[in-house]
Amino acid sequence: MKPPRKLHIKSYGCQMNVYDAQRMVDTLAGEGFVETASVDDADLVILNTCHIREKASEKVYSELGRLRVVKDDAARQGRELKIAVAGCVAQAEGEEIIRRAPTVDVVVGPQSYHHLPQLLARAKSEGRALETEFSVEDKFGFLAPPKPDAIRARGISAFVTVQEGCDKFCTFCVVPYTRGTEVSRPVAKIVDDVMRLADHGVREVTLIGQNVNAYHGEGPDGQSWPLGKLLSRLAEISGIVRLRYSTSHPLDVDDSLIEAHRDVPALMPFVHLPVQSGSDRILAAMNRKHTAADYRKAIDRFRKARQDIAFSSDFIVGFPGETEEDFLATLALVTQIGYAGAYSFKYSPRPGTPAAEMRETVSAEDMDERLVRLQGLIDSQQSAFNMAAIGKSVDVLFERPARNPGQIVGRTAYLQPTHVMAPADIIGQVLPVRIASLERYSLLGELAAPPHALAMRPVSSHITHGA
Ligand code: SAM
Ligand code: SF4
Repeated sequence: MKPPRKLHIKSYGCQMNVYDAQRMVDTLAGEGFVETASVDDADLVILNTCHIREKASEKVYSELGRLRVVKDDAARQGRELKIAVAGCVAQAEGEEIIRRAPTVDVVVGPQSYHHLPQLLARAKSEGRALETEFSVEDKFGFLAPPKPDAIRARGISAFVTVQEGCDKFCTFCVVPYTRGTEVSRPVAKIVDDVMRLADHGVREVTLIGQNVNAYHGEGPDGQSWPLGKLLSRLAEISGIVRLRYSTSHPLDVDDSLIEAHRDVPALMPFVHLPVQSGSDRILAAMNRKHTAADYRKAIDRFRKARQDIAFSSDFIVGFPGETEEDFLATLALVTQIGYAGAYSFKYSPRPGTPAAEMRETVSAEDMDERLVRLQGLIDSQQSAFNMAAIGKSVDVLFERPARNPGQIVGRTAYLQPTHVMAPADIIGQVLPVRIASLERYSLLGELAAPPHALAMRPVSSHITHGA
């Protein structure tokens, strides 16, 4: 029997890349590859790249420079190391990677990675292989499902892609060019995937897509199902105790999603709803197609459906034309909404996007200064949100042993990491924890009762106020 070949995969960027990397591992398992954490003993290294922000491609080329040394060392030892570049930089740069980095054997875009086995074979016979077409076939139909061992090794929380691509064309964003147009997977396929995950210990599923609430997959009744209806169906699957979704667009918040937050207890009351800016002028220049008032209305609808709901968001500072007044409108929006956390980025022009043609008006110093002010405000909101959990009993889904011996770590409904001293058999359970303190971003507490006394308790996800 041939010894297994070793695959090292390095993934950058969003959750979708994490998911894609897992599916590459699953597909290459069928070719006799096993994963290795080290580049040094790998037979194949895949860089699963991200193109969303600054200098992404330059970072890939410098990583490829380091890998060339590893590849040469391997060759001196009589081993053959193959190098593949996947993800959005592969899509955007294509031939350029082959030209600039002769060490690369395979370049594969995000819609073609189901062809990795064939591309590796082609690289063997022809020297190099490139595929960056937006394939007409559904790659999900070709990807091998994860093996039970792989599911268990990845833990109790899993991502499932339900929607890909984006038709929104925000002027700053490369996603519509690197991931292609919006496509939703059929409901039955997603149900199958989630049932397989649940059968092998997964308790929490996050549905992912570049614009996940634009989901409109074909249902078993032949109708187009919105995300809310899909979430309600998935909540019926035995073993699944928590559902989440990411990333949403404010324009696609429909009634089905609001109703799901009202009616489906497994759907966590924590929504990532990027707004990017609080200024209508900048939102228009970004082609977001919503105003700050539209965004506030969407937030209000969620809050009406579920009072304990909390939000996170994405912000860009220093978009071309952003004045101090525009920036103050962003701070005002943040103050008004009150976030549990948020990501903020300095604008970076992405080649090929309409904003890259706009004149950059915000100096590097002003951008830095605005980012610091915005992050300061968001941090203070996040700290206040975390502090508010102290003294309360909070439901936690336990995930894995923590670094400190005897401690188990899990997450609240709001993804706050929470540590308790407890036996490892609580992993996979949702149990109430009395929160005693906050250490940086982690909550510390103790189980509200011994685990055996809690085992029969029905699952819920609310924060309960208690003495
Ligand atoms: N689809 C989501 C949405 O509509 O908000 C997010 C897509 S993107 C992967 C994640 C975040 O990266 C965006 O929300 C935005 O804040 C940030 N981003 C995208 N392009 C950027 C750019 N050119 N400069 C700075 N930040 C950017
Ligand atoms: Fe990019 Fe999101 Fe805008 Fe689509 S909606 S173009 S993914 S920022």
